[in-house]
Amino acid sequence: MNNVIINDRFWSGKQKLLVSTLIPYQYSALNDEIVGVEPSHAIENFKIAAGLSKDKFYGCIFQDSDVGKWIEAASYALSIKKDKKLESKIDKIVSYMQLAQQEDGYLNTYYICHPEIKRFSNIVHGHELYCAGHLLQGAIAYYKVSKKDKMLNILKKYIDLIIKTFGNNDNQIKASPGHPEIEIALMELYELSKEKKYLDLTNFFISVRGEKPNWFESEEAFINAEKRYFDLSYNQAHKSIYEQEIADGHAVRALYLSAGAAALAKESNNTKLYEVLKNNFNNTINKRMYITSAFGSQGYAERFTVDYDLPSDRAYAETCASIAMIFFAQKMFEIQPLHIYSEVIEKALYNTVLAGLSLDGTKFFYVNPLKVIPIVSKYRQDMSFIQVRRQAWFGCACCPPNIARILGSLNKYIYVVKDDIYINLLIASTYNFNNNQIKLKCSIPNSKSISLTILKAMREKIYLRIPKWVDKVIVKKDEHISYYQDKDYLCLYDIKDKANIVLCFSFTPKIIYSNSRVSNEVALSYGPFIYALEEVDNVSDLSSLMIDIRKKIKIKKEKELNGYVSLIAEGFIKTNNELYSYHKPQLTKTILKFIPYHLWANRDEGEMSVFVNYK
Ligand SMILES: [Zn+2]
Repeated sequence: MNNVIINDRFWSGKQKLLVSTLIPYQYSALNDEIVGVEPSHAIENFKIAAGLSKDKFYGCIFQDSDVGKWIEAASYALSIKKDKKLESKIDKIVSYMQLAQQEDGYLNTYYICHPEIKRFSNIVHGHELYCAGHLLQGAIAYYKVSKKDKMLNILKKYIDLIIKTFGNNDNQIKASPGHPEIEIALMELYELSKEKKYLDLTNFFISVRGEKPNWFESEEAFINAEKRYFDLSYNQAHKSIYEQEIADGHAVRALYLSAGAAALAKESNNTKLYEVLKNNFNNTINKRMYITSAFGSQGYAERFTVDYDLPSDRAYAETCASIAMIFFAQKMFEIQPLHIYSEVIEKALYNTVLAGLSLDGTKFFYVNPLKVIPIVSKYRQDMSFIQVRRQAWFGCACCPPNIARILGSLNKYIYVVKDDIYINLLIASTYNFNNNQIKLKCSIPNSKSISLTILKAMREKIYLRIPKWVDKVIVKKDEHISYYQDKDYLCLYDIKDKANIVLCFSFTPKIIYSNSRVSNEVALSYGPFIYALEEVDNVSDLSSLMIDIRKKIKIKKEKELNGYVSLIAEGFIKTNNELYSYHKPQLTKTILKFIPYHLWANRDEGEMSVFVNYK
């Protein structure tokens, strides 16, 4: 990852924001220093467990995970910009962890602070494995950037205890994690150490799913839970992984599981598992994905429901679910380089993930609806989870540090090296490898020009992805390089010293039609961005607007909101003052202004809609 340096007008700004604001802000939040927000207590909990504080545990049962995610994100920030003070903050937390860790390796502050509750007695909802996964990922990222192995060794000791505790033997717990995540972390540890025991544990956690009788059914937390939405499918434990044909249950759980399973399929060359996951991926994106590459359409139980049930105004679409999908799709691409995986990553990144973050880096969306009428969202019981403004923090704060870790690790999604090199995201960057260098210059969507320079001759080919939103590729200049274009890629080969190719990716605003079971309205996109109407640019009742799709949609460069491209379309306002009427509504000509979806709610509070009526 350190071999890739991002120097992109758009994304470098986001990475600077990560270093300057997100990481320090989130550290303050975890230390309860932000006034007027729900306290986190996550770091204090470690101090209590370490015996350094007399305070009481506070927060969710999975509060430790926020610390793990923050350390992971902070480690990526350190790889972007060295910072001794930040390193010492991490070291301090690691010292609490060392003191908190029990003789046998156990490390979870909720259970350490509640000795009366038996550990590993609530696998279905207890989140011990989930927290261990996040702490492990933090430890791995910190080890990689700092070469300090203290946290990694703490977590390895804890994982050894988990290996002893879970398995098929009579004295072991034969259960899959209630909240998948540790699978991804274990596979990272396997990739780092090549120690088979980590792969074996992942394999156990993945393959025990669907076994009868199910361990969860013996646990009190499961027995007492409402079964309508918290059945075994909620935890993806209802079927064998080989029978799970579509993402189901809790959305973040389902997609983390798939990401972990894909990592396992990759490292164990399990083609059968890969094919199952590929089918699951295709079904999910074709039947259960929002246009913004968001997932999970029901707020209650934060879950998938049924095919094509994708309401805009009650969308749950948790930021974490889109991030989980990015992990899943990336692993799938690493196994088989299919365009569709990168397409989903791009859409999730430029739309839902970015929407989760305010422009100043201190406010966050957990839920990402595609339509908001503030007065309705604030009133309705079935929309109680919808926030019309980004929040400074959450009692359950899984999303903010997840956004931070994806921004910090963006480098790994641009280039994928297999036998050849794939460039999947059009993010200006330099990739250094084997004394060679690839330089990608672009600035989407402000410029349509793309230039690729390769320092030295290379045997491998380079596949430059041509996104589906590109109408035409025009090669303007090519030196010391050969190329051909297939459907999804521009393949560069016979690359000699100082090779260079300059292209124009010609693209225009697009009108997107949905399956009629999802919406009979249209949405607009331009480049990788899905667009939305906001009240502040249009009228107070967005449902009265119609776009005239026969007319050309114009683009306009805007200066506000750090600069963006708006879409300006001709259309109508429908007027019908009666609640119901025998008369057709009157249409008056108007102009509609659309902004990239991720920018919504950065100005005055008001209505927002991705979809619009059309004529
Ligand atoms: Zn979340």
